Parts: sequence; C-alpha cells; structure tokens
Amino acid sequence: MRIFNIGGRTHVQPRETIRCNRCGLEYLLEVTTCPHCKGMSNGEIIEKLHIPHSEQQDKNNKTGRTFFVIFITLVVLFVISVVN
Ligand SMILES: [Zn+2]
Repeated sequence: MRIFNIGGRTHVQPRETIRCNRCGLEYLLEVTTCPHCKGMSNGEIIEKLHIPHSEQQDKNNKTGRTFFVIFITLVVLFVISVVN
C-alpha cells in the first residue's frame, strides 16, 4: 500500500490486484498464486466458485424485479388516485 500526499490531503492508493486466469476472481498482485482457486481442479472451481456466484446473481435479479413490480404498482395506484 502506498500513501502519498496531494494538496495537503493524504491519499491511500488501493493495493494492485490482478484477475486470475483460472477462476476469474481478483487477487493481490503481491500474492503469487490465486488464494481463491489454489489447489482446486477446474471442476472444483466451477462447482465451488462459479455456480454459487451465478446463483447469487439470480437472487439479485429476482429481488430487483420484485422491487420493480412494487414500484410500477405504486405508480399505477398513484395515477388512479390523482385521476379520480
Ligand atoms: Zn483463481
């Protein structure tokens, strides 16, 4: 981590990361091997890292859609109440 000073303010440069070629996750440049997939086979990487990640994304998409439907419903109710 580098700390430097610009215009009297102290800035901390975030530590540099690189993206792992095997699992696609980021890890610190100063660490020589990826801690996420170290010692895993390609099958294990897919099973333990990629599948849970895509399930989490599905959940996030569903939550987003639910809020969107609630929002549209509220807008429709508001428009109806203004018109009447
Ligand atoms: Zn990795």
